[in-house]
Amino acid sequence: MHHFHYKGDELYCEEVPVNRVAEEVGTPFYLYSTATLERHYRAFEDALQNTDHLVCYSVKANSNLAVLALFARLGSGFDIVSGGELFRALQVKSDPGKMVFSGVGKTQDEIRSALDAGILMFNVESLQELREINRIAGEMGKTARISLRVNPDVDPRTHPYISTGLKESKFGIPIAEALNAYRLARTLSHLEPVGVDCHIGSQLTELSPFEDALHRLRELIDSLREDGFTIRYLDLGGGLGINYDEEEPPHPTEYGKMLIEKTRGLDCTLIFEPGRVITGNAGILVTRILYTKENLGKNFTIVDAGMNDMIRPSLYGAYHKILPVQRSISEKAASDVVGPICESGDFMARDRKIQPSGRGDLLAVMSAGAYGFVMSSNYNSRLRVPEILVSEDRFYVVRSRETLQDLVHGESVPDFLRGKAL
Ligand SMILES: *Cc1c(COP(=O)(O)O)cnc(C)c1O
Repeated sequence: MHHFHYKGDELYCEEVPVNRVAEEVGTPFYLYSTATLERHYRAFEDALQNTDHLVCYSVKANSNLAVLALFARLGSGFDIVSGGELFRALQVKSDPGKMVFSGVGKTQDEIRSALDAGILMFNVESLQELREINRIAGEMGKTARISLRVNPDVDPRTHPYISTGLKESKFGIPIAEALNAYRLARTLSHLEPVGVDCHIGSQLTELSPFEDALHRLRELIDSLREDGFTIRYLDLGGGLGINYDEEEPPHPTEYGKMLIEKTRGLDCTLIFEPGRVITGNAGILVTRILYTKENLGKNFTIVDAGMNDMIRPSLYGAYHKILPVQRSISEKAASDVVGPICESGDFMARDRKIQPSGRGDLLAVMSAGAYGFVMSSNYNSRLRVPEILVSEDRFYVVRSRETLQDLVHGESVPDFLRGKAL
């Protein structure tokens, strides 16, 4: 359920006509709905209300400060994967005691800042990282709480780029080697192993991979406890899928029900790191048609948003619904919806049946609230687009469109290249 809907033939976000935002801020832009963000966050929370848990929203899915501020106000913790995300999360005055730090390649500086902030725990992905966190914590006179990210070797049956829990993936420590890794952690005096962590992939549309992973992690927790470890947290990562097209991912309620049942008697605080399931369908990308053309019988709709603004179709072959901002009753026709970038891979949709539209018409690329703006770039020296947050009948520019000066910020021409021709 989201709050992008037609009133008459016009697309609205909550009570704001999308066209009105386009008139004021220009195109393209990302548009997020506060009510939808809140609703999805609460659906997740409600699904788990009868169990000891902590939701750590995965900042990388959508890291706009306004979005983070909303989740912080709703009581969410944060799952961060870089020093930059830590900085963002701290900017909105969130509680560091509810932050977990994931990722295979944490740098010294990132580890230091996280210890300084006093985060809840590090999700550690290698033996070398264990030693490095121990060393830095020692220097700082601190103890670092850690979980090991274990790789349970289950197939999440999703896109290979977002499958992370198979044994050949770069993530985590193989589950068979986990006990030994915990034993190493125990010998390192500035580490306190407190939990077990996994994240098996993203856009999962079935519960069974989660169940398989959970089953294996429970066995690990049992053996760790037999070995004398005090395991208080079980972090199950993120990964719950959303409806982009025809998929029917489990609702958070079903996911919660399964988890509550399968973790009965476990005596752990469950941690979740949802990203996409909360923000994915809470945002759209609005783009204007620049031109249309027909090449040898094939239709092209050329829009002003490109793969630099939204890379998911190009990178993963991802499907995003495309809706007209002004609906009509004319019969749909197949067209490629493409951007202005000099790459054939620059498309939003291929051979898609859309309402015939012409120059100047607006299109909404749906389900763009997760891994949309955050993955955008300046490729082709294009300005990154604004992000707009709607709340009821008002909208707020929560990131302004970049300027040409932003584009060259930090660049310079060295002296030897100045002056007369070489
Ligand atoms: C990306 C990621 C998430 C969030 O995944 P979603 O599929 O967006 O829920 C959670 N945890 C970790 C470690 C991640 O890398």
